[in-house]
Amino acid sequence: MSTAIDIAIIGGGNAGLSLASELSRLSVAETVCIFEPAYKMKKELHWSLWSDEKQRQILKQAIKGSWSQWQLVDYSRSVVRDSPSYDYTCLSSAKYLSLCERQLSEKMHIIPKAVESVRKTPTRYVIEAGERSFSANNVYDSRPPSVRPNSLLQHFFGVEVNIRKPMSTQQIATLMDFRVDQSRGLHFIYVLPFSSTHVLIESTMISQSVEPQNWYRNAIERWLNEREIMVESYLSEEVGVIPMDDVIPCDKNIPTIGAASGALRRSSGYGFSYINQQASKLAQQIKQHDYNVPNPISKRIILMDSLFNRVMIEYPELGPSLFMRMAEALNGEQFARFMLGKATPYDWVRVISAMPKVPFLKQLFHV
Ligand SMILES: Cc1cc2nc3c(=O)[nH]c(=O)nc-3n(C[C@H](O)[C@H](O)[C@H](O)COP(=O)(O)OP(=O)(O)OC[C@H]3O[C@@H](n4cnc5c(N)ncnc54)[C@H](O)[C@@H]3O)c2cc1C
Repeated sequence: MSTAIDIAIIGGGNAGLSLASELSRLSVAETVCIFEPAYKMKKELHWSLWSDEKQRQILKQAIKGSWSQWQLVDYSRSVVRDSPSYDYTCLSSAKYLSLCERQLSEKMHIIPKAVESVRKTPTRYVIEAGERSFSANNVYDSRPPSVRPNSLLQHFFGVEVNIRKPMSTQQIATLMDFRVDQSRGLHFIYVLPFSSTHVLIESTMISQSVEPQNWYRNAIERWLNEREIMVESYLSEEVGVIPMDDVIPCDKNIPTIGAASGALRRSSGYGFSYINQQASKLAQQIKQHDYNVPNPISKRIILMDSLFNRVMIEYPELGPSLFMRMAEALNGEQFARFMLGKATPYDWVRVISAMPKVPFLKQLFHV
């Protein structure tokens, strides 16, 4: 005997719980079950985005740090940017998910079980989870997707630490510091100073193969040593592998949301804002009885990002300069818009004209 529901959301991560909380906010009539095996075991990750004042108000309880300035650095220069509209904001993933959960209406039910199978009948989906069976009119699947071999990946390892002496650049989020080993692919250090002595430091690579964890650890240690920064205590560690290419969903016969629907930006790996926009649009559509998932990222952006990635794969030595040129070409407002997928045609012209022409033209005919 199966339990009849209107909507099943597979996965209560960023996409699943954002969608459920948006549906609650809009007081939709449908009954929703969110299936999440790691419920109440949420690991603390750092999810960052460019946020405006209104968004910061909404996300207040989940914000871990926010910076009005951010920078990209290489051996010859640092490009520091700020924007009148957007701050670079880091959320605690656990607090964000709790915030979503607290907003769930009585129509939303979290089922703390893994979905084992989904079967499509002519009229409904039948979902098996934890020895129970559910039948739903609509299913949205956010289980993590896989990628084809040799896909471009963003992979990283980071540590959250207390340091002995206060940092001088506490006001600035360092998005990319390229003054590190570039021999295995595009590599940078990412630094978020939550206070002058409390810092997240990540060694991040963009390449086709993941490195052993010690490699990133050594890169972080070297970066700290070169700056004579001494660690007082280690607070947490974070590891991630983010696809920057086409993704393969767990089951291609079920509609997907979040990263599984291609919501991670291919040139940067950022996904939070795209996932939120998708959740908000989809909830509005559902309210109007339209259950089709909106594309999280426009086809034009995917095409341009894919071209950018091809150049990075073919000319790895150009990697740091491509990002530095892009940052130099845009002011802070344009930069934030670009990262949020809201670039104007003028912003695009500025980025395109800053890129080296020959590598891009050569790759254009291969995309
Ligand atoms: C470490 C890390 C840091 C990131 N940092 C940023 C950032 O700073 N900014 C940014 O914009 N993006 C960031 N991203 C990218 C992206 O925003 C996140 O990956 C985001 O969590 C994707 O949301 P999602 O809901 O698609 O997937 P997830 O949040 O991964 O949710 C998928 C859920 O499915 C569940 N699940 C798995 N199997 C089953 C099953 N069989 N049945 C039911 N549920 C199942 C999982 O437990 C999980 O909770 C980061 C990614 C990682 C990995």
